[in-house]
Amino acid sequence: MRWFPLFLDIRDRKVVVVGGGQIAERKIDLFQSAGPCITIIAPTITASLQARVEAGQFTWEMRRFEVNDLEGAAVVVASTDDDAVNRAVAAAATARSIPVNVVDNLELSTGILPAIVDRSPLVIAVSTEGSAPAFARHVRARIEMAIDESFGELASFLRRVRGQIKARFADLGERRRFYATLLEGAVPDALRRRRPEDAEAAFLAALESGVSSGGHVTLVGAGPGDPGLLTLHALRALQAADIVFYDRLVSADILSLARREAELVSVGKSAGDHSVPQERINALLVEHAAAGQRVVRLKGGDPFVFGRGGEEIETLVAHGIAYSIVPGVTAAVACGAYAGIPLTHRDHSRGVRFVTAHVKSALDAVDWPSLARESDTLAIYMGVSSIERVQQELLAHGKAADTPIAFVENGTRPEQRVLIGMLSGAIDLANRAQVRSPALLIIGAVAALATELAWFGAAPLTAEEAASNTSAP
Ligand code: SAH
Repeated sequence: MRWFPLFLDIRDRKVVVVGGGQIAERKIDLFQSAGPCITIIAPTITASLQARVEAGQFTWEMRRFEVNDLEGAAVVVASTDDDAVNRAVAAAATARSIPVNVVDNLELSTGILPAIVDRSPLVIAVSTEGSAPAFARHVRARIEMAIDESFGELASFLRRVRGQIKARFADLGERRRFYATLLEGAVPDALRRRRPEDAEAAFLAALESGVSSGGHVTLVGAGPGDPGLLTLHALRALQAADIVFYDRLVSADILSLARREAELVSVGKSAGDHSVPQERINALLVEHAAAGQRVVRLKGGDPFVFGRGGEEIETLVAHGIAYSIVPGVTAAVACGAYAGIPLTHRDHSRGVRFVTAHVKSALDAVDWPSLARESDTLAIYMGVSSIERVQQELLAHGKAADTPIAFVENGTRPEQRVLIGMLSGAIDLANRAQVRSPALLIIGAVAALATELAWFGAAPLTAEEAASNTSAP
């Protein structure tokens, strides 16, 4: 290691930036969060720097660099495009033992600016010792992903309670073991939920008992299949999980993102066939969380859209289990996007209805007259066998026979198919194209836009095209 990382206190200290271009501005941005007094030395500066000078953020000396400018400086940056000036700045700073960073010139620099992850008071600095700043930024982005916004809160919390912990556990080994449970447990969990009072209570309980219990459930929406549609919170939950209970619709690609040591348990629900009954799933979640495990309940799409997530959470509440909920991209939103079908469109549809037509009881509960009457886009979450009933009911209640429709089968997955037609031909389309679950049915004028706006996977097919494609015997 040639460059030693050292955190400098520059609050109210003088930082001199020689040069007033875009690079200077980026460096100034880096410094500014630490509250120094910044002086720019340059004959001209960018308009946006000028605006910030006028707003009083820092001062500007409108002239060329002079050696005296370094008087009292804590750090110096040379960012001009004139090599001679940069050299003069570096020489003057080095002679005065003031750390200097010369942009794009390691030889002249005695300090480098790292890429920073700022969750103050937690601050992570990343450097490649100047060899590849772009790579340092890449690593920083990875760290940003792994470390959620609440880590700063956690760092402040720990700063505050450090003394109490030290007083309670005099022995270093004991203290370390306590920290290990604390950092995995209910305190960071509560801070992530923006419940500081819960964090405080969890901490006091932990201090009393000597360990922090970490049991909680994260109800996670896995989205429709493409792992790129996971949220950062979903990824973090998967990577912290002790055990994952997942549904049939969750793709293997997504499961492979779980922590390697996590136990993966299929509770594979599919329409009609509930391999693990809901009550049993509810009980499993409670049991494992109560035993102190970090449980992830992973569901296709969004857990609160036709996902029975509500029932699972009600059970957790009844048993006093801590939980959090991570939304996912629901099938209608994802299939619309990946099929090039805007669910709303100023010219075609001002609203969208999510409807489940999954099983007979759901079909019986649908308000067909209102669905047939409205011009809103219908996004029908369905078992493919429901299509007969859907077509018949909508036509019987007066929906136009030539209303455009689209099936999106395996939406967002490599094998995605989009099948387009009209409401009166929906059953025929499903049969001839052999549409299989999971499939979403979109009904409304917007469905016709798929022809024009499709961008992902195979092009949309009509019944004829699909029939000749599948060439059923
Ligand atoms: N909670 C889920 C929906 C569960 S109901 C969500 O928010 O998406 C299951 C139905 O969702 C399936 O029958 C199908 O209609 C739809 N679905 C889920 N994933 C899908 C996908 N990748 N492509 C098309 N439809 C999908």
